Amino acid sequence: MSARILDGRAVASRLWRDLSDRVADLRERSGAAPRLAIVRFDDRGPSAVYAGSVARAARSVGVEPHEVTPPSGVSLTDLAGRIGALNRDPSVAGIVIAQPLPAHLDPSTVVALIDPAKDVDGATPLNAGRIARGERTFVPATALAVMAILRNYEVQIAGRRAVVVGRSAVVGRPVAALLVAADATVVICHRRTRNLAREVRRAEILVVAAGSPGLVRAEMVNRSAVVIDCGINTTPDGIVGDVDFGSVRPVVAAITPVPGGVGPVTTMMLLEQTVDAAERQAAEFEPALDRYALPAASESIRPPAAR
Ligand code: NDP
Repeated sequence: MSARILDGRAVASRLWRDLSDRVADLRERSGAAPRLAIVRFDDRGPSAVYAGSVARAARSVGVEPHEVTPPSGVSLTDLAGRIGALNRDPSVAGIVIAQPLPAHLDPSTVVALIDPAKDVDGATPLNAGRIARGERTFVPATALAVMAILRNYEVQIAGRRAVVVGRSAVVGRPVAALLVAADATVVICHRRTRNLAREVRRAEILVVAAGSPGLVRAEMVNRSAVVIDCGINTTPDGIVGDVDFGSVRPVVAAITPVPGGVGPVTTMMLLEQTVDAAERQAAEFEPALDRYALPAASESIRPPAAR
């Protein structure tokens, strides 16, 4: 039997409706649309493409995109001034920095300039630390998209063995932390993992974020596995994931396609956290993390019981 397809576009369109309603409510109460500042450094390259697609999605739910375009030679001091102004601007709910940055700017230093309360893509070191500690905060949108897909398809997470392939700060590490917070038992794999196939085969939930087309093949997976493929790789055959979809689909329980899986949900997660930020600024905050990553029964993030 072929795997169930975990359809990211369907999940994204449900999220789109909810978000549009929440934005309409916010607009009615405050008289203004929440604004998402998108800092980008080029006019035509990948940073502009990303900024353009986020801006279009933002407009579609009623969030107002505010593109900020520092000159590509901008100094760190100048940039700190610009991001500081966005941090102080009460009309700006969230700030995202479109990668890649010009070579002379260190990405970690630049994202650290964002006020963590407006860090709607969970990029700042403070929010990364909170995620690692299992605390509620904004999280990287791709990691949250993985959890949103699992939740939307009611995949049981607690007690299950999850394997994450990839340990980047934007995908692998935060996904692993969210799965631990949802009470999975998590193994993180990377290039130095001794026997990737053996680790992957033990996964009941498999999340792959390696940037390596076709890395996971049919003979590596477990028949009961739910497979979430975060990979986006441009090949002569078009965009493909890190999982060899054609061979893996027939032998697992469920799988996300690429394209049409994690990608569309990621954009919605960025917008959902922007709306969260706007609601928090209006004192009505309920983090998206609560809705997707933390089951009501989870004990893992509760404060320790009084002795
Ligand atoms: P990085 O290159 O930063 O990290 C890749 C990770 O995968 C590293 O930890 C690396 O290990 C590991 N890895 C790579 N090759 C192998 C291998 N052969 N065996 C085991 N581990 C391996 O990539 P990102 O995390 O930024 O992105 C991963 C993928 O997700 C890319 O395809 C990217 O395009 C996609 N992506 C998708 C998004 C979405 O919205 N769907 C958003 C962001 C990224 P090591 O640490 O040892 O080098």
